[in-house]
Amino acid sequence: MFNKRSRIKDLLANGHQNEEAVVMGWVRTFRNNQFIALNDGSTNNNLQVVVELGAHDDFFLKRITTGSSLKVSGTLVASPGKGQKVELKAKSIEILGDCDAEAYPLQPKKHSLEFLREIAHLRFRTSTFSSVFRVRHALAFAIHKFFNEKGFVYLHTPIITASDAEGAGETFRVTTLPFDNTPRNDDGSVNFKDDFFGRPTNLTVSGQLEGELAALALSDIYTFGPTFRAENSNTARHLAEFWMIEPEMAFYDLEDNMVLAEEFIRYIIRYAMENNKEDLAFLAQRLEEEEKQKPQAERSEMGLLEKLEFVINSPFERVTYTEAIDILMASPAYKKKKFKYEVKWGIDMQSEHERYLVEKHFRKPVIVTDYPKDIKAFYMRQNDDGKTVAAMDILAPGIGEIVGGSQREERLHKLEERMKDMHIPIKEMWWYLDTRRFGTVPHAGFGLGFERMVQFVTGMTNIRDVIAFPRTPKNAEF
Ligand code: ATP
Ligand code: MN
Repeated sequence: MFNKRSRIKDLLANGHQNEEAVVMGWVRTFRNNQFIALNDGSTNNNLQVVVELGAHDDFFLKRITTGSSLKVSGTLVASPGKGQKVELKAKSIEILGDCDAEAYPLQPKKHSLEFLREIAHLRFRTSTFSSVFRVRHALAFAIHKFFNEKGFVYLHTPIITASDAEGAGETFRVTTLPFDNTPRNDDGSVNFKDDFFGRPTNLTVSGQLEGELAALALSDIYTFGPTFRAENSNTARHLAEFWMIEPEMAFYDLEDNMVLAEEFIRYIIRYAMENNKEDLAFLAQRLEEEEKQKPQAERSEMGLLEKLEFVINSPFERVTYTEAIDILMASPAYKKKKFKYEVKWGIDMQSEHERYLVEKHFRKPVIVTDYPKDIKAFYMRQNDDGKTVAAMDILAPGIGEIVGGSQREERLHKLEERMKDMHIPIKEMWWYLDTRRFGTVPHAGFGLGFERMVQFVTGMTNIRDVIAFPRTPKNAEF
């Protein structure tokens, strides 16, 4: 058995003097032919390995380069250096893998995030990205923990579907039909009868509709899986492949839905704050330095940790869409014509509007409810005013929309009416409508974009930096 090692995180936290230890990891730096900063990804902090002077020949020492991998056995001793309690006095050093310093793209200096995206296969080895991915893990774990504690069932909804949940298009087609000699109908259209599933299929844009089916039997379910949108929006908060968490609850109205969403967001942030203190402290520091590059007016007023602390301790603001539009139209920004996009009742709020509400007006996360029905999906419950639906979006500082949800329309005739108006194929959705035919109940749910949440907690400004291998227009490397 090869892997008899201590994790560097554990040694730094609990190691005591004179303890024998074996560690394995990658060299971050090697100074004065004597001090190796070794990292194994268990923590941001490196273990200082002290090489005994004269114990190795020059040829061997030259092979200890940034990026090379080592197995070191030795004794823990009190460290005279600051920042660490212990260091490892090496008895034996084995080079597991050499790393040509000339060819290795990661140098012990600051690299731009843009450059690191081009070497996404190696960027895990930087402090920033190892922190981001440990925090991402903690959030994923906290999400399962939260729902499990609440008695929710984790439902795996299909990735290949024949429905476009939102009716918004922007799906990736799934097919085994050949590109040349595509089978055609007499009118020239593609004949999907010969396709693998005998019908057009695509990658899922949301597991919600299937989630609803399960909720109307299991009561409380959630999904947590990849979703795909072929939207050609090259923004810092859109990916073509992203992960979404979609809880769906029977016997819930919009108010219940909001209460759950708020509790959920607080819970997972708190979990990361308690379990990833060092990573978040590092990321906060990183963000602070990044902010210094910006003009004063664009800098955020709160540091990362302050912001997270604030979010878990103060109730989210709640406003209706109609109130939100009134606030925007009464704002100095509106009067001074600072908004690029039009503001009036009925618009789909743009990111500049959402940011104004969250960052300038309320200065905290905001839940906007009761949107005009014409800008929302067919399944949202129609309010009595005939104009709005029981929708809720949660807007977060710096990111904008982080959660989108609603109470679902449980009344069959209302739902069918809306589907007709919106040209949603009623026949094809027979299975969805069956739940409204057979023992329908009030129910609600929401979708949280996982990467947006990771962005919020890590302070990373570009969504490409919180998923291992981002899929964006014209980019599917790795
Ligand atoms: P947006 O207006 O920001 O494009 P949306 O209205 O399309 O969002 P929904 O369809 O409500 O979003 O999806 C639910 C959640 O999934 C959103 O609140 C957001 O957090 C996330 N999300 C949506 N699209 C993307 C994307 N392309 N990349 C990453 N996350 C996304
Ligand atoms: Mn969108």
